[in-house]
Parts: sequence; structure tokens; C-alpha cells
Amino acid sequence: MHMNVMERKLAAGTEFETSYYRADGEGPGIVVIVTAGVHGNEPAGVLAARQLVEDLRNDVLRLRKGRLIVVPLVNGPAFKRKTRGVPDLNRTFPRRPYAKARHPVTDALFRLASIHRVAWYLDLHEANGLSQLSRKVLGQTLIVNPGSQAIPVVRQAAAWANGFILNGNRKFNVRVKGLPGSGRQAAHSLLQARAVTFETCWSLPLRDRVRYQTALLRRMLKETGIVTGAETIPY
Ligand SMILES: [Zn+2]
Repeated sequence: MHMNVMERKLAAGTEFETSYYRADGEGPGIVVIVTAGVHGNEPAGVLAARQLVEDLRNDVLRLRKGRLIVVPLVNGPAFKRKTRGVPDLNRTFPRRPYAKARHPVTDALFRLASIHRVAWYLDLHEANGLSQLSRKVLGQTLIVNPGSQAIPVVRQAAAWANGFILNGNRKFNVRVKGLPGSGRQAAHSLLQARAVTFETCWSLPLRDRVRYQTALLRRMLKETGIVTGAETIPY
């Protein structure tokens, strides 16, 4: 039987209206949200998130319990223009309790995450450079906030992924740092979620970046305990 994946609209009626998808497992469990395309010029995460929806529909991945919410393209207008987007949506999320996000789409997104009391918040991005070559760049990293309960799992996922990556320059690093106004920090500090940012490197071939995003996403989803059948694709 195919998994029922419901399509809904976020920020309906605004120019930022975008689809999100919700799948429910058979039993009760935690809620995990996956977001991508917060920045319009970071396509690998968007493609990986769209693939995740297809994989759920086609039973490549199965939700055994809990709920999975996927928002494949947060900033549709910027994606169309292939720009990062102004304002930078990853600075518009609420920075303190009861504050409102400073943009209609991040407001809708954060309320969605909040209403569902997400336990995990996985945000897919891309960045400049290779983190193995410079501490100053974020390409090929997984980022978590200081004190995050996700840190051990993220370290394991990075080590696992690196086992498949033959080119040492492409291996992932884990960075532990805050970013006020980001979805990750808002989810971490205001929703007490395990929040993780995935960053692939822009200068690598798109196909490889999508593979990295997909493999890490599957691995992390498996770690949340709600997904099965998430056997990894060696890349
Ligand atoms: Zn980004």
C-alpha cells in the first residue's frame, strides 16, 4: 500500500504560497520537519526534499510511526530568480519567545513547526567552499547549535557519510554554532527541537550535491526512529 502523502499550502494567498507535504505513520510518535529552499540559490536541498516526497509516495521510504512534514521550497520567488533572496529569510525567524517571524512565509513555517511541536528540524542549504580546506567556509558541513541534543547523532551521520566519500576534500565537518534569526536556532531555542542545518558545497556537480543531501537526510530520518526502509545509497 502506498503511503498517503497530503499536500497542503503554506502562506496561502501570498506571493510566497508554497506546497508542503505531510505523511502520518501508523502509530503515534514524534514529528519531524524537513525544510529546503530558504535560500533561492541552493537547489540541491530543494531537489533532495522533492525526492523525499516521491520516495514516501513510492514506498521507497516508510513512516512507521509519528509524522513527517516536508517543505521543499520555502522561498519560491527567490528560487525562480536563482537568488539568495532579500530579505535573507534565514535571519527573519523569531529570536525570542512569543516573537513573530519577520516575514510572511517564515512566520507561516515557524507556526507550522510550532503547532506540530516538532522534535527534529532538518534544514537543507548550500554554501561556499569546502570546509575541509578552510575553517572559514561552510560547504560540506552539518551545523548544530551549542548544547543541541542532536550533536551525537549528527557526528555519527557525518562519520558515516564520510566513509563513502573517497575525495578527502569533500568530506563533511560538524560545526557547532548559533545563528540568530535562523530557522535552526529558532527551532533549537524556542521549540526545543533537535535542529540541524545541512550544507553542501556549491562548486561541486549538482548531481553529487543532491546525493549527499539525500543520503544524509535518509540517515538522519532513520536516526529519528520514525522512518524505515531508509537504506542508504552509496555514492
Ligand atoms: Zn542557505
